[in-house]
Amino acid sequence: MTTTSASAAHRATVYGYPRQGPNRELKKAVEGYWRGRVDAATLRETAAGLRREVWRQLADAGLHEVPTGDFSYYDHVLDTSVMVGAVPDRHRAAVAADALDGYFAMARGTRDSAPLEMTKWFDTNYHYLVPELGPDTVFAADSTKQVAEASEATALGLAARPVLLGPVSYLLLAKPAPDVAADFAPLTLLDRLLPVYAEVLADLRAAGARWVQLDEPALVQDRTPADLNAAARAYRDLGALTDRPRLLVASYFDRLGEALPVLAAAPVEGLALDFTGPAAANLAGLAAVGGLPGKRLVAGVVDGRNVWINDLEKSLATLGILLGLADRVDVAASCSLLHVPLDATAERDIDPQVARWLAFARQKVDEVVTLARALAHGTEAVAPQLAANRAGLASRAGSALTRDPAVRARTAAVTEADARRGQPYAERAAAQRAHLRLPLLPTTTIGSFPQTSELRAARADLRAGRVDAAAYEARVEAEIRAVIDFQERAGLDVLVHGEPERNDMVQYFAEQLSGYLATQHGWVQSYGTRYVRPPVLAGDVARPGPMTVRWTRYAQARTERPVKGMLTGPVTMLAWSFVRDDQPLAETARQVALALRDEVADLEAAGTSVIQVDEPALRETLPLRAADRAAYLAWATEAFRLATSGVRPRTQVHTHMCYAEFGDILSAIDALDADVISLEAARSHMRVADELAAAGYPREVGPGVYDIHSPRVPEVAEMVGLLRAGLVAVPADRLWVNPDCGLKTRGWPETRRSLEHLVAAAREVRAEQ
Ligand code: GLN
Ligand code: ZN
Repeated sequence: MTTTSASAAHRATVYGYPRQGPNRELKKAVEGYWRGRVDAATLRETAAGLRREVWRQLADAGLHEVPTGDFSYYDHVLDTSVMVGAVPDRHRAAVAADALDGYFAMARGTRDSAPLEMTKWFDTNYHYLVPELGPDTVFAADSTKQVAEASEATALGLAARPVLLGPVSYLLLAKPAPDVAADFAPLTLLDRLLPVYAEVLADLRAAGARWVQLDEPALVQDRTPADLNAAARAYRDLGALTDRPRLLVASYFDRLGEALPVLAAAPVEGLALDFTGPAAANLAGLAAVGGLPGKRLVAGVVDGRNVWINDLEKSLATLGILLGLADRVDVAASCSLLHVPLDATAERDIDPQVARWLAFARQKVDEVVTLARALAHGTEAVAPQLAANRAGLASRAGSALTRDPAVRARTAAVTEADARRGQPYAERAAAQRAHLRLPLLPTTTIGSFPQTSELRAARADLRAGRVDAAAYEARVEAEIRAVIDFQERAGLDVLVHGEPERNDMVQYFAEQLSGYLATQHGWVQSYGTRYVRPPVLAGDVARPGPMTVRWTRYAQARTERPVKGMLTGPVTMLAWSFVRDDQPLAETARQVALALRDEVADLEAAGTSVIQVDEPALRETLPLRAADRAAYLAWATEAFRLATSGVRPRTQVHTHMCYAEFGDILSAIDALDADVISLEAARSHMRVADELAAAGYPREVGPGVYDIHSPRVPEVAEMVGLLRAGLVAVPADRLWVNPDCGLKTRGWPETRRSLEHLVAAAREVRAEQ
């Protein structure tokens, strides 16, 4: 295709870039500051240096406009709270005493003031700090950070485009402050907030910004007419300001849907839209509103959330259509590049044949630049890049890694019956009762026991070659013995081996399944200074051999009581990895499910009667738009059943999820057809038990009675109270007694006492039955 548009200069840009630096310098500096080893001036200088380095790199790569203000010491939503003066009362003194320390106090809490709550940023694995607002919130503009960063970039001679979280999304992401009525709607503060944005925009204009980007990702979620009216009002008012830069309103992560006509009609100069994944529907949406005459369109055609090279020709085709729909079309990644690692060329351990399929932040910038060049000067101008891209895509499509005939044949042969247990629940339950002979209100834990620094050190020693595999395994076995001994002494009914061999519940399996790659430097920010290296699900998934049987068998050999096998479910295996974009997620999930199914079969053959398959990510992976959820839940629950339904009726399948809010997936929980489900419930006083009962959930339930998020040891009486509350909803022969989640982050002393209390509580309530 040759697309030329002689008149317009098509610009290349991105909305944000990884903040950490090539060697996670930011993490080191910030944590050093917390520990008193780095002073404030040095921290600031490190941060400024990293920003400079990023902007130079972006400009050298050929971006015409660089984003500013996307940098953060901790979180950009917290930065926005500071920008609008929304500091919770409990942190005001700290902020007044020292802005930087006050900032970190809001992020991390202090001895006597809790931090802001943290939650997931849309459907990514990034977490933001939730603004706390109330009817008494008084906003006040503080544009210091935005102005300073814009000026830094401008001083380098670059076209800086400050990026701000937009006022509507800011309010929609907020929650009522702790002392405020729970039904308070932060969006009612819009009129108070807009003047603050007006002031910041004026300051940015004075600092030389020609364009400012206002991010409104909350508008890609299902919104009420009132929300949409608020958005219309916000951009009508901001658009009407006279002292302001040009406004680019950005959305990403999904399609704008009914918000698209609202923004298209707003008096702003540009829109930035995502055209990847489900957001590809923006293309039709844009055509339906008659395009964006007179406006600038920034087209997010390079997926900013995954790690794969773009299909440049496909993107050019999309851009070609868009040229007819807006006055000016620029090219960008679909969202901030915050969600991908920095540079694929740093990965020296990945087979070069596979490495050429990868595009991290740096490579994505090159793709954006190539596409903008092709638009401006024709595809001939980028012929070498297009050829290399074609070759990379062909190599991926034709590779034995992405096309394993045995795996493909097996997934293709899956039938509806393969994903169904052989007997209905009631019959299985009877067989399990006869086989397991558990007492009423059986006690168990969720899987992991404390991951001590000693265990982590043993793993580090193994990696570094300081100890050999035999020594490491002996260490793991010793831990398993200790965990089993403790559980027997404490009197738990269904034991676990404690997961001492696992670095992480996804990575442990990813390392053993073919089709997954590990990166050396693929860090992405999870929150604050916490970075994770998600595995890359690159190819067809198969299980070369058993993954957990050895440890479960070792544990079972040490006790007469049943030991639960412990696996991570298919949805979670996908959710906490970078997934393939060359086939439907459902297909990838099915491959993982079949690998797990074999592991389940091996566990059963080794004498395991209870097998737990954790799916903590089932809810967080829900598509942003309700219209897409049924399809997702259908494949997600099918994958779980495919993994677990190959067992005999008397084998008991458990699942576990880590949250108390799951009203929207109740029917999916039922569709898992697990015999037992454990959930978080201690902090919400067993509310989940009521909800499940109200929904007619017929199977066994273990609502957590021990909040594992703090070192506090719950008293017996407290857990007795919770169990009695649970019994109001769930009959005694279907109620389990367990903590909210795994104990890996806890220490041994509190774990011991808490579990002893838990067993005592179960016994006390059991005696009343
Ligand atoms: N089995 C896991 C554990 O106990 C479950 C963790 C989780 O749900 N996040 O650690
Ligand atoms: Zn959990």
